[in-house]
Amino acid sequence: MTKAHPIYAAMETTIFERMSGLAREFGAINLGQGFPDEQGPPELIEAAARALREKSSQYPPGAGLPELRDAVGDFYRRRQGLHIAREDVIVTSGATEAIAASILALAGPGDEVILFQPAYDAYAPMIRRAGAVPVAVNLQPPDWRYRAEDLEAAIGPRTRLLMFNDPLNPAGTTAGEAELAMIAQLCLRHDLAVISDEVWEDVRFDGIAHRSLMSLPGMAGRVVKIGSAGKIFGVTGWKIGWMCAAPELARVLGRAHQFLTYASAPPLQWAVAEGLGKPDAWFAGQRQAWAASRERLALGLQGAGYAVLPNAATWFLCVDLAASGIDLPDRAFSDRAVREAGVASIPVSVFFESEGPTNVVRFCFTKGDAVIDEAVERLGAFRDTLTRSTRR
Ligand code: GLN
Repeated sequence: MTKAHPIYAAMETTIFERMSGLAREFGAINLGQGFPDEQGPPELIEAAARALREKSSQYPPGAGLPELRDAVGDFYRRRQGLHIAREDVIVTSGATEAIAASILALAGPGDEVILFQPAYDAYAPMIRRAGAVPVAVNLQPPDWRYRAEDLEAAIGPRTRLLMFNDPLNPAGTTAGEAELAMIAQLCLRHDLAVISDEVWEDVRFDGIAHRSLMSLPGMAGRVVKIGSAGKIFGVTGWKIGWMCAAPELARVLGRAHQFLTYASAPPLQWAVAEGLGKPDAWFAGQRQAWAASRERLALGLQGAGYAVLPNAATWFLCVDLAASGIDLPDRAFSDRAVREAGVASIPVSVFFESEGPTNVVRFCFTKGDAVIDEAVERLGAFRDTLTRSTRR
């Protein structure tokens, strides 16, 4: 076979793709890969259809439609008090492209890039492909807090960049004010840039307003803030995301983006621009619906004997298998649950390259009531068979 790059030759298919594939193969309920089972907000679908009929389907400007770039700025001004101008926003084909483009633009051979584990699975391979070296700092369940000593110990003379994900996937936890301040302070002291993956910023259930790392004193010039329409509106397949940074940095990010995807589907950009202008109450309504599903799955899992870990954000709930009386590592549990119980999940140890906990599994709750109830029933029965067979 033609020789491929060793990073990709040795790479497995992502856990999300793999679990969704197994869910299809076994006809399982898919609580693995994170997506709502609804079609998407009707107003957004209608806006996209209208744009398809009435607007151009030819290349939009590479950095994104000006209307969408403005709408992103307005949205963040309204909801997070940020000052983001049109020039500061580069529209990408999903947050995954924004992650790739920003890593390619900011890291290269000789650089070390710090990431907190659990880390989204795209980070480390892209850091390596950029020629840089990922350096992991582990967070510990059940609360996954950021500790200054651990971060400081990972920073060395070659450290150039920090990957930060808040709210945190898969844990669903959020960084507190003191943690944000601590991280900002260390970035300033050691002159680090930050890729701040905030795709879950609008999926918070703790009633606390999201605060971007970008808004902390001194950070505006060193943070790339990544956002995602897929998460904000529950339209994951649209693959419309963006990266925001101070103008000089944004220009460089635009150079990386222009040779990855160049531009993203204009009808979807029009629809997202329209959607971002919806009043706060519209977003609150959507969040309430997700909160109800979250509550339903949490109570259901607890009733079925699962120990649900505390969290405050994202579409995910994590359970502690050991505390649920299940004597199986997470990967074995997920592998068996999709086949034997007909429920797909994500084993959290895949978010660690080394020394991660192996007792935590993630479930996505943005599903209809009947789907959640059926999944809970299946998982309850599955837990019974597991605890029976391992009881001594
Ligand atoms: N962000 C999604 C999740 O965590 C996965 C996205 C993907 O599969 N590319 O489930």
